[in-house]
Amino acid sequence: MNEFDLLICIIVIAVIALIFFREKEQKILGISLNKPSNPNGVLLDNSLKQKKGQELTSEQRSIIETNIGLYHWLPKHLIAPWEERIICFLEEFPITFMKKEMPTEEMRILVAAEACLLIVNRPLSDYRHLKAIHLWEDEIKGNKNARGNATRFEINLSWKYLKQSIKKARDGHNLTLHEFAHLIDFADDGIAQSIPVSRNSKDFKQWQELVNDEHKKLMKAYEGGKNYSIRAYGGYESIKGDKPELFSCGTSAFFERGSRLKRECPKVYLAMKEFYGIDPADWRQAKAK
Ligand SMILES: [Zn+2]
Repeated sequence: MNEFDLLICIIVIAVIALIFFREKEQKILGISLNKPSNPNGVLLDNSLKQKKGQELTSEQRSIIETNIGLYHWLPKHLIAPWEERIICFLEEFPITFMKKEMPTEEMRILVAAEACLLIVNRPLSDYRHLKAIHLWEDEIKGNKNARGNATRFEINLSWKYLKQSIKKARDGHNLTLHEFAHLIDFADDGIAQSIPVSRNSKDFKQWQELVNDEHKKLMKAYEGGKNYSIRAYGGYESIKGDKPELFSCGTSAFFERGSRLKRECPKVYLAMKEFYGIDPADWRQAKAK
C-alpha cells in the first residue's frame, strides 16, 4: 500500500466513523435519521402560509354563524386565523358523505370549521397523518353505538349527532372537537393515551403525571356521585392501562366549559391553555345583533 492508498483508507474510515457517531448522537437526542420531520406536515404548514389574509365568503360564514354555538364566543382576533385554516383544510382534506359521494357545502364547511377551531392557534401539521373524513347520515357502519371514531389516519362522524353537538356551546360535549383531539393525540406516536406530545418532548413527563393524577380525580368524583366538568367517559381505561378519552373529553370541556374546568381542574386547564394557545375561560358571548 502506497501513501496515497493509505490516505484514502484513513479518509474512508474517518467518514464512516463520523456517520456512525452522528447517528448515535441523534439517537441519544431522540432524533431518528430514518424519521425526518413529516413531509406532509411541512406541506400543510406552507399551504396555510399561502392563505394569509384570505376570508370565507359571506354564505360560508353564515353557515358557521347559524350552526356553531361557539362562533358567538370566539374573540374577534381569532376569526382571521380560523378562516385561513378552514380555507386550507377544505383544499387539503377529502370529506366524503357515506350516503352519497359528495357531501353538501354545509357539511364540508361545518366539519372544516370545527376541526380548525381546535387548531386556531396551532399549525395545520397537527393533521399531517389525516387521510380521510367520513360523514355518516346517522349510525357509523360497523360501529353501531359510536357517534364518531378516530384512528391516526381517519375520522368517522355521525352527521346527525355532529349537528346537534355543535349547536350547544356550553354543554361540555362536542363530537367533532372530541374526535379531532384524538387525531392530535395519535399524531406524535400513533398511540391515543391522552399525551399529545412525543416521548422525546420535555413536556412528556408532565403530561404523563397530569393524566394519571386527573384520571384518579375524575374517577373519585364520579364514584362519589358528583357532577364534574369532564364527562365520565373521560375515565375510560384500556386493558393496557392507557387512558385514551381523558384528552378528548378534557378538550371538549376546555372549549365549552372553560371557566368550570379552570376552577375544578386548574392543572388540566393550564396544560390545555398552553397546548392549544387559547384561553376559553375568558371568552364572552357576543351580544345578539
Ligand atoms: Zn373518544
